Amino acid sequence: MPSSKIIEVREYTVRAHKREIHTRTFNFVCKQCEQSTQRETFGPRPLYCERCRPSQPPKKTVVPLHKRKPRATTYDSGKGIAG
Ligand SMILES: [Zn+2]
Repeated sequence: MPSSKIIEVREYTVRAHKREIHTRTFNFVCKQCEQSTQRETFGPRPLYCERCRPSQPPKKTVVPLHKRKPRATTYDSGKGIAG
């Protein structure tokens, strides 16, 4: 016999907020290409220009970790697979 009940879920909102970050623009010479460059950063003085060290790496090879192959040998005793 399935038992079901109704629970009350209160409405709630998450307020949008702004976060302030402090960025600085550095004028420096890149260590790799040795070109005088300018870069905005929120941390310490950068060493490389955006060409040599892009802030966001372009590679987008994402390996899905949740796609695991089911193994038939590593069952815990008592744990069955339902469904
Ligand atoms: Zn560079």
